Amino acid sequence: MALINLHNHSTFSDGTLEPAALAREAARAGIKYFSLTDHDVTGGWEEMEPALKQAGLAYCYGVEISTGLHENLHILGYGINLADPDLAASLVEFRGRRVARIKKILELLGGLGITIAFEDLPVPANRTVGRPQVADVMRARKIVSTRSQAFKRYLAPGAPAYVGPNGPTVEEAIKTIKRAGGKAVLAHPGAVAKVLDLAAWKDFGLDGIEAYYPAHTGAATREFVSLAARHGLFVTAGTDFHGPGTERGNMGGFEFDEAQFSEIKKAFI
Ligand code: AMP
Ligand code: FE
Ligand code: FE
Ligand code: ZN
Repeated sequence: MALINLHNHSTFSDGTLEPAALAREAARAGIKYFSLTDHDVTGGWEEMEPALKQAGLAYCYGVEISTGLHENLHILGYGINLADPDLAASLVEFRGRRVARIKKILELLGGLGITIAFEDLPVPANRTVGRPQVADVMRARKIVSTRSQAFKRYLAPGAPAYVGPNGPTVEEAIKTIKRAGGKAVLAHPGAVAKVLDLAAWKDFGLDGIEAYYPAHTGAATREFVSLAARHGLFVTAGTDFHGPGTERGNMGGFEFDEAQFSEIKKAFI
C-alpha cells in the first residue's frame, strides 16, 4: 500500500530531524508521496532533495506560511519554484516578523522570571524561529517537560507569555505562493473552523484543503472532502510530522488514492 504524507517539518523550522534523516524516516514509514513543508522557509530542500531521491520517494517542493489571521491559519504551498526571488524575499520578511514576535514573548517570559536571550534559541541563521524552540529551551532548563506543557502554561492563547500571530494576511500568503508558481492549500482546516471562509480564499487563488489530517475525525474528514468539492478545491493529506521528542513524533501517512490526489500529483517533480 502506497502512503502519502505532504506535511512535514525539519530542523529548518520547528522539526527535530535534519532533512536527510527525515527522508530516511519517511521511507521507513512506507511513505511514497512526500513533501517537506517547513514554516516560512525552503532552505531544507537543498539537503532534502538528494536524500529523497536516494530513498526512492516521489515528492513536490513545499512550504507552510503562517498568517496573522489566526494562530493556526497556515497556507501550504506546493510545487513552488524554489529559485523565485520574490518568494525568497517574502519568506525572509515573514521570518523577520517572527523574530519580532518571539522577542516580545521572551520579554513577557522575562517578566515572569524566566530569562531567555534570543541568542539562547537553537536557531541558525536563515532558519525559522517559532515558539517550539522557546519551549525546547524551557524543556532543557527543566521548567517544563514537553513542548505542549510550555504552550499550555506560557505560550498558547490565554497563557501569560502569549503574543498573537503577526504574519501576512491570508490573501498575501496565497498570492505569495501563486506568484511562485505553486498550489495554495489550507493546512489543517479542522483547527481553523471558526474563521473558515473558503469562498473568499478561493477568490484569492486557494487551490485545495488538507482534508486528511490526523486530528480530523472520520466525520470531519468526510465533511472537508465534500466542502472542497463544493468550492472546486482539491484535497491533500499530511500528518504535520515534527520529529521525535515532539507531540507530532509519528510519521504516519494516508493511503494514496489516485482519484482523490490526482490534482496535487501534478505538482510532483
Ligand atoms: P509558531 O510558529 O511560533 O506560531 O508556533 C506554532 C507551532 O508550534 C506549530 O507549528 C506546532 O509545531 C507547535 N505547536 C502549536 N501548538 C502546540 C502545542 N499545544 N503543543 C506543542 N506544540 C505546539
Ligand atoms: Fe510547527
Ligand atoms: Fe501548521
Ligand atoms: Zn505544519
